[in-house]
Amino acid sequence: MAKRIAIIGSTGSIGCQALDVIRSHADQFQVEVLTAGNNVNLLIEQATEFLPNAVAIANEHHWERLREALKHLPVKVFSGNEAVADLAAFDTVDLSLVAIVGFAGLMPTLKAIRNSKHVALANKEALVVAGELVTRLAWEHKVSVLPVDSEHSAIFQCLAGERLNKPERLILTGSGGPFRGMSREELRHVNPSQALQHPTWRMGDKITIDSASLMNKGLEMIEAHWLFSVPPGKIEVVIHPQSIIHSMVEFCDGSVKAQMGIPDMRLPIQYALGYPFRLSSDFKRFDFSKFSELTFSPPDTENFRNLALAYEAIARGGNCPCVLNAANEVAVAAFLAGRISFDAMPDLINKCIRKISYVSNPSVEDYQLIDSETRQLATSLL
Ligand code: NDP
Repeated sequence: MAKRIAIIGSTGSIGCQALDVIRSHADQFQVEVLTAGNNVNLLIEQATEFLPNAVAIANEHHWERLREALKHLPVKVFSGNEAVADLAAFDTVDLSLVAIVGFAGLMPTLKAIRNSKHVALANKEALVVAGELVTRLAWEHKVSVLPVDSEHSAIFQCLAGERLNKPERLILTGSGGPFRGMSREELRHVNPSQALQHPTWRMGDKITIDSASLMNKGLEMIEAHWLFSVPPGKIEVVIHPQSIIHSMVEFCDGSVKAQMGIPDMRLPIQYALGYPFRLSSDFKRFDFSKFSELTFSPPDTENFRNLALAYEAIARGGNCPCVLNAANEVAVAAFLAGRISFDAMPDLINKCIRKISYVSNPSVEDYQLIDSETRQLATSLL
């Protein structure tokens, strides 16, 4: 029987690639739910092709147009943030792929888990902000949180068959982004269009900027900590510009397992959707003769300060990762809008971490308050 999938954030980079995967495995998957933020035209196109049971658009201004365009089809139409979160837990769904960007991914993730839906999690911010809560609820509701991020999918694949062997160290690889090797002074002058040119991956704008600033590795370190219960001190970041090894696991005997392949997000997406089965694909294969060297070096945390801030945030715990995330979202939006320089982003995040009061065991309501308080503070500091 086909697995019934909700794609929360179907109009984004991950969402569209997930639909590509489903298109090539039409016998394996049934699209039950599609949701978007603003891109009503693409959502209409997707709904017309995949005929889901229900669709939702977060921006309520688009509801009328969406409803009108789909009125001849057997598709239920909703709008608003709450509808998006509700559809992640839609009755007929077996697995919800949460592919929204930012803090907005937290509520659909929690809703899906609380309603006993398995989750394929692309949205890393949910685990960064509320990793303890998300993983605890998943355990209580006996649902899987399957990683979609390529690094975490790599680790997950390395851990297959190792249930009895605790990892000693996780090694997260990162390309280093387009500004690898630049000094602080040089970073001050880079612009958004340069930052949006990622050397090896094509992704949404926010994660592309996070990759350029190394915040992405910081968020991934926190994500890995919660997904695999490994302390941050045992999660290492290694710069690997070729992006062929997607991450590694070291075990107590010193053995290191790596997962490799051509960088293509459809592979980890497909692995999560098809799990526990590997599905065939025609994705480009890795050709060893074309890569004469794979290189590795430590990250530059002096000039790229975000990674150090992420380690500090998870070490402090409580609401600190939530503050880090909200301040970063404001910083990235401000950089993209030309309001602050690339190098000013870590300064802004650092100030927010120092100024927002510490909360040790935040509830969901606390996270919402802390997120909006931090956004206000960060905006006032711009
Ligand atoms: P995109 O910006 O390309 O897409 C984001 C999606 O979320 C879109 O469908 C967008 O809708 C929707 N959306 C945005 N804000 C809201 C909101 N407030 N409410 C409801 N829907 C919203 O992002 P990516 O696909 O690149 O990334 C998604 C997540 O996956 C991020 O957390 C990212 O870190 C993670 N990830 C992405 C990878 C990639 O290769 N892209 C790799 C690994 C992880 P619309 O466009 O209609 O406004």
